[in-house]
Amino acid sequence: MNGKRERCGNVPCEWCDRDDWTCRICLGSAWWEPERPYRDASGVITWERVREPCRMCGNTGKEHNPLTGSVV
Ligand SMILES: [Zn+2]
Ligand SMILES: [Zn+2]
Repeated sequence: MNGKRERCGNVPCEWCDRDDWTCRICLGSAWWEPERPYRDASGVITWERVREPCRMCGNTGKEHNPLTGSVV
């Protein structure tokens, strides 16, 4: 559960082509760890940390979400 992909699957993808822009959601790790509500056996709701491939960058660790339409 530590690997990252070279490319997100979109071809061509201008974001995968660059290595100088780190995904701001996962900070380049290509994984993120959100917390989800979880009800345990006694009915108490707690938060559970899960780990899953970063959807924002397609598990590449590279920024894939331009803030605006204009790329500098
Ligand atoms: Zn890509
Ligand atoms: Zn990411």
